[in-house]
Amino acid sequence: MMKLKKDVVIIGAGISGVHAAIAAARGGLDTLLVERDGSVGGISTLGLCNPFMRYWLGTERLVGGVFGEILSELKRRGGLLANSFDSETMKIVYFEKLRAAGVDLVLHSIPVEVYTEGSSIRSARFISSQGIPFEVEADYFIDASGDATFSFMAGAEIFEGDAGGTNQAMTLMFTVSGIDFAKVSEDIKLNKENFFAWVSPRPEVMSVAGYFQEIKAARENGYDKLQDYYFFIELPGEGRASVNTTHSFGRRAADPFELSGAVVDCMAQIDQLMSFAVEYVRGFENARIEKIASIMGVRESRRVKGMYVFSGEDVKSHRKFNDGVVRATYGIDIHSESSQKITQEDRMQVPVYEDYYEIPLRSLISADFENLGITGRCFSSDFSGHSAARIMPTVAAMGQATGSAVSSAISNGIPLSRVEARDIRTFIESGTI
Ligand SMILES: Cc1cc2nc3c(=O)[nH]c(=O)nc-3n(C[C@H](O)[C@H](O)[C@H](O)COP(=O)(O)OP(=O)(O)OC[C@H]3O[C@@H](n4cnc5c(N)ncnc54)[C@H](O)[C@@H]3O)c2cc1C
Repeated sequence: MMKLKKDVVIIGAGISGVHAAIAAARGGLDTLLVERDGSVGGISTLGLCNPFMRYWLGTERLVGGVFGEILSELKRRGGLLANSFDSETMKIVYFEKLRAAGVDLVLHSIPVEVYTEGSSIRSARFISSQGIPFEVEADYFIDASGDATFSFMAGAEIFEGDAGGTNQAMTLMFTVSGIDFAKVSEDIKLNKENFFAWVSPRPEVMSVAGYFQEIKAARENGYDKLQDYYFFIELPGEGRASVNTTHSFGRRAADPFELSGAVVDCMAQIDQLMSFAVEYVRGFENARIEKIASIMGVRESRRVKGMYVFSGEDVKSHRKFNDGVVRATYGIDIHSESSQKITQEDRMQVPVYEDYYEIPLRSLISADFENLGITGRCFSSDFSGHSAARIMPTVAAMGQATGSAVSSAISNGIPLSRVEARDIRTFIESGTI
């Protein structure tokens, strides 16, 4: 069997794992990034997720560093429209940044066995989809799998779902082309009450949610798979949008059968939603499905217990930490069956962003294994804290912080838990948007 020795192995090449790998490699580490799919980016590319949720306060960017570079590169290539981006351009940018940093990337591979010794992970055995096993010994491992798969296999303590163990709803995203945005805009201007109060007819990028009257009419005509609103975000290019409207509730994302059931549910919803849009939504008369995400949009599945469990209270109190390494402002956002029932009060709400909170380095380090970093969707958090911190800019910053922390631990010959947060803050380079 092939055997490798690396400084750090990162499992999962979603936006967080990519940032962790780039930071680790730039920090001088021999870095291996292992990904189960055939491309990188996870939910941010294959999942067709858009746009970047708020990572700025006023004109101040809360996330800089590698994420800032990626934004500039997307812009240079015409793949950025305010905070919405083109998923294929994003793939190219990720690959280019990984290559330039000198990250070793292996696709189509998953871990099958994790070898531990007391509170340390010694090595792991992986297998490729071609059935070729390989073992990697490393000083550090970073779980960026989103589902905490590597930590779960190592035997780390895991949290899952809300107090009753129920995960957030899953959503299969899709993109649409052929939209007439002038008509969409005109419709919003004439029928403001038919949309959420925050929807504007002339923003930099159209983010539209509502169509309450059309949904009511369509339901009366037999459409039985619609949610209470229709939500889409304009994408770079002519007449393109990303639709974030399907929902599969109450299914366990870490169970392969339930996850597959969610895909089946959402495919049926997409089919009906597209017919609805063409028939009822002004500006969608000639629209068609461009792409359906090749992976399910899992908002939350398993989370790893870290040295600190980041909480919803930390979000609400805009808490700052001595070892704060990531800054964010996005609020608690839980997709559950009840949260999708839209009341008049919901429609009138306009989100307010007035301060930031921090995420401490301790919530990026496993409580059980001293050489295990945990980043992205599976970082250490409670259910509601997670719901705020899971957005792309924030998990990108977590990745950079975790990769940099491992590099700092190795170069200073100290444990990960003793790394100085001030050396690795992801907002040091934050700049004006
Ligand atoms: C439907 C939906 C809508 C969202 N909307 C927004 C939005 O509008 N704005 C925003 O900013 N954020 C949004 N988010 C949140 C955000 O997209 C995700 O939380 C974020 O992209 C997660 O990044 P990640 O790198 O932590 O995880 P992922 O993107 O899940 O990446 C994990 C990676 O690990 C790989 N992997 C998994 N298991 C293994 C294994 N065993 N071995 C090897 N590789 C493995 C996966 O293939 C994947 O590439 C949304 C999320 C969802 C689901």
